[in-house]
Amino acid sequence: MKSRHSTLEKLCAIVHALEQQIALCKQNPRTRKKRVAATLYAIRKIVKNELGAFCNCQQITVVNNSELDAFEAKMAIPCPVHGASRLGILVTIGGYASDGDPRDQRLEELVKQYQRSCISQKRRSR
Ligand SMILES: [Zn+2]
Repeated sequence: MKSRHSTLEKLCAIVHALEQQIALCKQNPRTRKKRVAATLYAIRKIVKNELGAFCNCQQITVVNNSELDAFEAKMAIPCPVHGASRLGILVTIGGYASDGDPRDQRLEELVKQYQRSCISQKRRSR
């Protein structure tokens, strides 16, 4: 709650600064451009901080070959801020797919599927 209050105070200060800039239209274009850039920077910083509270991305995800349905479900949960799910570094617990255990083969396939989705998302964001 306190965070929301301080965000509102910051936004009110920015609106006040914008109103002052409009009132001071006699400024030269370079000065006006600098002030607008500073204002945009402040707004972007506030928006980034506020959105961070909604991010559900992970830095590390442990994937156990006995809980693959849970991992697959996690892959499908989108982040409200970043879009696609970001699970960070995947730490896999299981054997090698080449050993023939179907759980390990599915684990490998899910990890590859996740990595492909990360690569395609990076290409789209460029
Ligand atoms: Zn996120």
